[in-house]
Amino acid sequence: MSKTIFEKIIARELPANIVYEDDLVVAFRDINPQAPTHVLIVPRKPIPRIAEARPEDAPVLGHLLLKAAEVAEKLGLKPTGYRLVFNNGPDAGEAVPHLHCHILGGRRMGWPPG
Ligand code: 5GP
Repeated sequence: MSKTIFEKIIARELPANIVYEDDLVVAFRDINPQAPTHVLIVPRKPIPRIAEARPEDAPVLGHLLLKAAEVAEKLGLKPTGYRLVFNNGPDAGEAVPHLHCHILGGRRMGWPPG
């Protein structure tokens, strides 16, 4: 299987504005931001989407969520709030088949989402 864009970013084969990384996750700015702050946090492990995650992925997924909150705080989003989004499959608009959490903030968001 060919590498996804996010695997290439993780491997430093494609440039990205990385805001956080550790041994399990990498967070980088979205190339097409939908809010004043728009960061993607991804596991280094190439899990395609949440529907394909397995019980043994629980530690990395828990870590990813906790780090998403840390990154959001580091980027100044904690006082006003932010949204975390996982798009799973075609109806959700998933474009990159490597699990990722969108961290969106810096503006008021509507509900329900479009
Ligand atoms: P999805 O629609 O799959 O939930 O989100 C994929 C996200 O990846 C989109 O917000 C899109 O802008 C972002 N994206 C696609 N290609 C690249 C890229 O090469 N670099 C970065 N930083 N983001 C990308």
